[in-house]
Amino acid sequence: MTTRFRVIPPPYRVKVVELLTKEQIEIAKSRRKREEAIKKAGFNTFLLAEAEVYIDLLTDSGTSAMSDNQWAGMMLGDEAYAGSKNFYHLEKAVQEVYGYKYVVPTHQGRGAEHIMSRILIKEGDFIPNNMYFTTRRLHQELAKGTWVDVSINEAHDPESGYPFKGNVDLKKLERLIKDVGTEKIPYMSLEANVNMAGGQPFSIENLKALKALCNEYQIPIMLDATRVVENAYFIQQREKGYKGKPIKQIVTEICSYTDGATVSGKKDAMVNIGGFLACNDERLFIEAKAQVVIFEGLHTYGGLAGRDMESMARGIYEMVDNDHVAARINQVEYLGYKLLRAGIPIVVPIGGHAVFLDAKRFVPHIAQENYPAQALTAALYLESGIRGMERGTVSAGRDPNTGKERRPKLELLRLTIPRRVYTNTDMDLIAKAVTRLYEKRERISGLKMVFEPKYLRFFQAKFESLEGELIKKNLH
Ligand SMILES: *Cc1c(COP(=O)(O)O)cnc(C)c1O
Repeated sequence: MTTRFRVIPPPYRVKVVELLTKEQIEIAKSRRKREEAIKKAGFNTFLLAEAEVYIDLLTDSGTSAMSDNQWAGMMLGDEAYAGSKNFYHLEKAVQEVYGYKYVVPTHQGRGAEHIMSRILIKEGDFIPNNMYFTTRRLHQELAKGTWVDVSINEAHDPESGYPFKGNVDLKKLERLIKDVGTEKIPYMSLEANVNMAGGQPFSIENLKALKALCNEYQIPIMLDATRVVENAYFIQQREKGYKGKPIKQIVTEICSYTDGATVSGKKDAMVNIGGFLACNDERLFIEAKAQVVIFEGLHTYGGLAGRDMESMARGIYEMVDNDHVAARINQVEYLGYKLLRAGIPIVVPIGGHAVFLDAKRFVPHIAQENYPAQALTAALYLESGIRGMERGTVSAGRDPNTGKERRPKLELLRLTIPRRVYTNTDMDLIAKAVTRLYEKRERISGLKMVFEPKYLRFFQAKFESLEGELIKKNLH
């Protein structure tokens, strides 16, 4: 793979900054403080206080920097209980950019997933997915459906440079249809820029073929459009016929092949909170409005303040600016190429929102039942005060039928880059810290789980080091 790289400058200036506290600066300097903090957190970076974190790459969810235009929108919140003008702005933005007819706001992405799953899934159904997203799969399972993976094999291979690892394997999907029958498949659940595969896109070619197959069997396609902008960028860069096409046009085209979507506005749209469900089918819209009032709020606010809807509406227009998307993904690639050049094992191609370290190659001495990606995530924090997130066995959870731990092929440490927050100087620091840790990799020890919550365990699980120390002083 080529490591040729050209920096794309960001299309903005910094007007306001968030000051780090003395405590956070101290964390960067004091290994003793980091050690105390990560032990107290049970070696789970989700349980660290932000005050204990120097550079925060836990997630890009709700952590991006809003623009002056979005903040100005916050002051224009119309907080009427019903029919807030900000709702109509949001509705218009979704119609113009994504192209769906109907919009139901929700407090965030999982609120929309909850409602969609309740409406469309009945007990005994099977839902094909291109890999999984944690909350999306859980809502399918809570609705008594069975999640089925129909992603292509390349998606599970961190070393495959295949440019469209988010593609659906149509043969796997057809086999499922033949095995269980169309009446047991309420919809195809399609994720854009698949997070768990390492931020990897599907191609328009694959999506069109999927659409044709689903049409034949009358199976609707419900998109997880949370990261559709990044998917569109990769299509623009990699797919024949899309060079130079505006991102907005590609986003609209993607959505036009689907029947509806759930969206977390906290990613592409750069808001701190917000999401929505969108669709073209009026019956689904009426059902969704009936459900949203039970779980989220009235159908013109869905758990959001008017100001939140306004900043999301503005973020939706900003997110499809070509220069913005190019600079955002360029920064992720800047970090990725640095790590590649240093010989660090990462998932290729470099993802849209994050660089994923491959724990199976980074710490091959740690067995999968001792959570190599979790151990690596904790070790990076201990080494540097940088907070990443595990995406491996802990995130994969247990099979609801057998109760056994799922053993995913991928054991990853995700270094997620929030939008418009860090500079490439930060990326240099991160690359240095990871390289330093790589030199000590043989001294990192595995973990055992000592507390396990029932659902989405990665958020709150606690661990202990197998060998007393997470990074041993010396090998023997
Ligand atoms: C974050 C995310 C969700 C869930 O959205 P929340 O706003 O966190 O509830 C769903 N799908 C994908 C792909 C995501 O990245």
